[in-house]
Amino acid sequence: MDISFRCNKCGQNIVIDAASAGQLVDCPKCRTPLEVPYKSKSLDKRVISPAKMRERYIALRWISASLKVAAVLCIVVGIAGGVACVVGGELSRYGTSADNTEHAVVSLMALVGCLLVGGLCALLLWAAGDLIMVFIDIEENTRALRELMETPLSTT
Ligand SMILES: [Zn+2]
Repeated sequence: MDISFRCNKCGQNIVIDAASAGQLVDCPKCRTPLEVPYKSKSLDKRVISPAKMRERYIALRWISASLKVAAVLCIVVGIAGGVACVVGGELSRYGTSADNTEHAVVSLMALVGCLLVGGLCALLLWAAGDLIMVFIDIEENTRALRELMETPLSTT
């Protein structure tokens, strides 16, 4: 069985056969003589690789991405709805003697209303998506900070 530990000067991870426990070895990186511990320092087991980090919260990341896609769709639907209102209004006006100015104002209000609602929905969905990512970031930062604090400081 191997023992793994860190150089207390440069932090280099060292893996050595358990038969060397208690003996002095030179750090392969900075050549500091180090006493091989009898037990592995468990530090490395807690370190989560970036690849593993990306696997975590994969569902939340998907939801976040979906929310942002929905946000873009809201804008598209808002614009499409606004255009449909104007076009529909124009079409319905044919053959009637409706007041042009009044009609234009109503069409414009419908267009602005659709754009506002679409934009607001998009903003809220995008914010929700971002919020999820913020929580994931906070969690990852907290973990990284804890690992940093638990890593023995260099003794130089
Ligand atoms: Zn070293």
